[in-house]
Amino acid sequence: MDQQSERALRHKRAMQRKKAHVDERIAQAVIDKGLLVVLTGNGKGKSSSAFGMLARSVGHGLRCGVVQFIKGQWECGEQLLFASHPLVEFHVMATGFTWETQDRELDIAAARQTWAHARALLGNPEVQVVLLDELTYMLTYGYLDANEVLDALRERPAHQHVIITGRNAAQALIDLADTVSEIRDIKHAFNQGVRVQRGIDY
Ligand code: ATP
Ligand code: MG
Repeated sequence: MDQQSERALRHKRAMQRKKAHVDERIAQAVIDKGLLVVLTGNGKGKSSSAFGMLARSVGHGLRCGVVQFIKGQWECGEQLLFASHPLVEFHVMATGFTWETQDRELDIAAARQTWAHARALLGNPEVQVVLLDELTYMLTYGYLDANEVLDALRERPAHQHVIITGRNAAQALIDLADTVSEIRDIKHAFNQGVRVQRGIDY
């Protein structure tokens, strides 16, 4: 056998072994359940990943709910796309970033009002996917009671998926979650003086 066909044969055998291993792992994954997915870390990509899952869900015809806990300065594309979609119930917190309102009491009132929408979604078995964007800050700032949030997540319908985004996810949230990704900041254009870009940043 020449060198090339020997290499091809070695590759085929390695791929056969890999396929057998992958097939075995897939055969072992037989559980269906509502997942709690947490996307945290300082890098860019948390909310956009979460809305990617929302797009998938809507594509499959699933009924979804979105609650955005921090309203940015710019009207984001995901809101423009999904807020009027018949499968999506969309709520946005009335106030802006906490460093813009500069009023803790106002922030707390807005957070609690917004949380009421989230709690209703988490209590509704007909809603299959719930996205709680930037929820982690409500817990770090102490705007919402962590135990109340954790209880609502624990007591939600068994088949309901929940996606939570935001930096510094609390350990209790990580412990409760099924899937957690930490997105690391390697570099971001903003730090080179680039302004936020429509479509990419909002
Ligand atoms: P995205 O919505 O783009 O997925 P994100 O949800 O991971 O971002 P947030 O902390 O919610 O990040 O911030 C949202 C905005 O801040 C976006 O415009 C994003 O591009 C920008 N941003 C995110 N990470 C960084 C960073 N490390 N440095 C500077 N700006 C950032
Ligand atoms: Mg975000």
